[in-house]
Amino acid sequence: MAPQTAIGVLSLQGDFAEHVTALCRTGVSPIEVRRADHLEQTDGLIIPGGESTAMAGLMDSYDLRKPLIDYAQMGKPVWGTCAGLILLADKIIEGRPMPLGLMELAVTRNGYGRQVDSFETDLIFEGVLGGPFHAIFIRAPRVHQVGKGVEVLSRTQDQSIAAVRKGSLLGTAFHPELTNDLRIHQYFVSMVEAVTK
Ligand code: GLN
Repeated sequence: MAPQTAIGVLSLQGDFAEHVTALCRTGVSPIEVRRADHLEQTDGLIIPGGESTAMAGLMDSYDLRKPLIDYAQMGKPVWGTCAGLILLADKIIEGRPMPLGLMELAVTRNGYGRQVDSFETDLIFEGVLGGPFHAIFIRAPRVHQVGKGVEVLSRTQDQSIAAVRKGSLLGTAFHPELTNDLRIHQYFVSMVEAVTK
């Protein structure tokens, strides 16, 4: 039998537990990643939503910044949701925190407003079949600009960018882990399996 795909969830801060649950429901074994040696046991990684400043600070305290950059540069798939997407970017308009700089994206944190401006909407997501995806945006980042080669996979009705992909990197401004719909987790699992199998 082929070894099971192991997907890590960066578990320093934020809603990593919800991603762990969603991955279990897709049938893959999640690994909570808090140290570089945990990362080595994984074939792909999810960076969850939460607070990008706190997560970036913890990433530095746990000496994970370089291992994470090396991991992505090796071609291992990484998916950032919300704060995770902010950390994948190479430019945060406000100037902080320092992101990982993996994807050519210019983002504004809380780009739709404050907690009270959080919203839910149905989206078409390229490559995800079965009709619209119900997307939850919570103090979501706004993506202003994408670099060459960054594909936009989904937009809101007002054309704001909701999901991006560049090769093995995936970013969503919303939180698929907060719904029962597993299709985007399955999409990411397929990205990881495409690299490992
Ligand atoms: N606004 C948060 C940040 O800047 C992200 C919010 C979220 O992940 N839901 O990091």
